Amino acid sequence: MNSQRLHIAIQKSGRLAERSLELIGSAGYRLTKSASDLAYSAENAPIDLWCLRDDDIPTFVADGVADLGIVGRNVLAERAAGGGNGLHEVMALGFGRCRLSIATPAGFDYRGPQSLQGLRIATTYPNLLARYLAEAGIEASIVTMRGAVEVAPRLKLADAICDLVSTGATLEANGLVAQTTILESEAVLVRSTRKLDAGVERVAEILESRFRGVAASQDAKYVMMNAPRSALARIAEILPGAGAPTVLALAGRDDLVAVHAVCQESVFWETLEALKEAGASAILVLPIEKMM
Ligand code: ATP
Ligand code: ZN
Repeated sequence: MNSQRLHIAIQKSGRLAERSLELIGSAGYRLTKSASDLAYSAENAPIDLWCLRDDDIPTFVADGVADLGIVGRNVLAERAAGGGNGLHEVMALGFGRCRLSIATPAGFDYRGPQSLQGLRIATTYPNLLARYLAEAGIEASIVTMRGAVEVAPRLKLADAICDLVSTGATLEANGLVAQTTILESEAVLVRSTRKLDAGVERVAEILESRFRGVAASQDAKYVMMNAPRSALARIAEILPGAGAPTVLALAGRDDLVAVHAVCQESVFWETLEALKEAGASAILVLPIEKMM
């Protein structure tokens, strides 16, 4: 093993696998797959990827076998709630969004956490569930499962479940309704708390800065419009997450100017309508490919 390379653990296959590779690609790293399918190497940077089961990623990073990892916050939080340490979240990555929620059969009369008192709740997240119940002052029994938690109520193994939900379609198909969320999750970049070798640290910092740039440019838009000079203050107020806009003269017009701005937040139709109302015309919204 070459210790001068940065090692990143990503999910081998599953919900985060493709988006993790995509993000690394968007950050400008050209990846070549190893013969075994279990690893990738970057051609243009000293970076190697290891493809693992997501559940193993925190352990590998905590033990320092990998320096960074991409994993659901839910996996990280479950480990932390169980007392595990050795790694921390560096940044949220904006994909793999889901919620860890408590769900009950559709007919259940849920009136808040106290309704869970004395129930059996099936989950693959016993530590997070135990912490939630303790904080809510509820005594319930936790049925720890390895998967397929959503079938537990039908099999009378449990009265309720605590599981990941994104669209709710799986719950609905099993006659369940989400009642309360105990954790908001998405894919996160994790880092070992161990100090990295100076050269590897530098590679990690560049990668983290590029990841931030990719995340920022995802929602960011370049907005251009013409506007009456008198409306500039109002328009600057409406533009979401923009600094001071660039104001350019328009040939032959003293009353009108061109306004250009980088908006760091999503630009919705409502924003465009508000700009139009403020007097803007010829409004263009363009994607931004890279940002630093
Ligand atoms: P592995 O084979 O790596 O153990 P897995 O089956 O445990 O995979 P996946 O189902 O691929 O894991 O989910 C990986 C992550 O995707 C989850 O930990 C979670 O952070 C995220 N995720 C997003 N939406 C959902 C969802 N609806 N259900 C489950 N996980 C989701
Ligand atoms: Zn898993």
